[in-house]
Amino acid sequence: MTPRCGKCGSGMKEGFPVDSSRNQPRVAQWAEGAPEYWFLGILRMRGRRKLPVQTFRCTKCGYLESYAAEPAH
Ligand SMILES: [Zn+2]
Repeated sequence: MTPRCGKCGSGMKEGFPVDSSRNQPRVAQWAEGAPEYWFLGILRMRGRRKLPVQTFRCTKCGYLESYAAEPAH
């Protein structure tokens, strides 16, 4: 079930944000909490909850709406 655009009411198309900072593209994830860094600007990710992000894009105005749903068990 795709949502309707919250800005203009048009239909939205399913998609996802891509993390292409590595050689292999991956689905970007939502991470819990504010970003904290190690020395040299490396993000501290230990102990953070992470969920894959699903993003819908309005086909008319381009508005993005993202979901990081709990995985189905
Ligand atoms: Zn729209």
